[in-house]
Amino acid sequence: MEQFSLTTGSRCQMIDITGQVRDILYKSGCAAGICYVFVSHTTAGITINENADPDVPKDILAALEKLVPEHGSYRHREGNSDAHVKSSLMGSSQTVFIEDGKLVLGTWQSLFFCEFDGPRRRTVWVKIMPAS
Ligand code: ZN
Repeated sequence: MEQFSLTTGSRCQMIDITGQVRDILYKSGCAAGICYVFVSHTTAGITINENADPDVPKDILAALEKLVPEHGSYRHREGNSDAHVKSSLMGSSQTVFIEDGKLVLGTWQSLFFCEFDGPRRRTVWVKIMPAS
């Protein structure tokens, strides 16, 4: 299993991590299989969505903020309940097929690390599982 770190720059942010995941895949030399990407944090997540228009991640973050406002009648004493809920909505992992040594992603798709309680230093885990 491989890992890489990233430092987020604001409380809520989506960062395209497709390049880092691709680098790990290329180093592995795997031609076909499954790439599993996992975020080991309770206030961050990972999703796949559009990489072409930077307004898409902004709209996703704005919609999440509308659904789960930062300030609300939460019980969790740490004061970051919205970040925990947003983390669960996005999920903590994504699975991408590997074919011909490449990630099988649509033209407009990227893997995004989703920060909901930054800025922080974060870790992403990547497991490349060859098909045979
Ligand atoms: Zn908390």
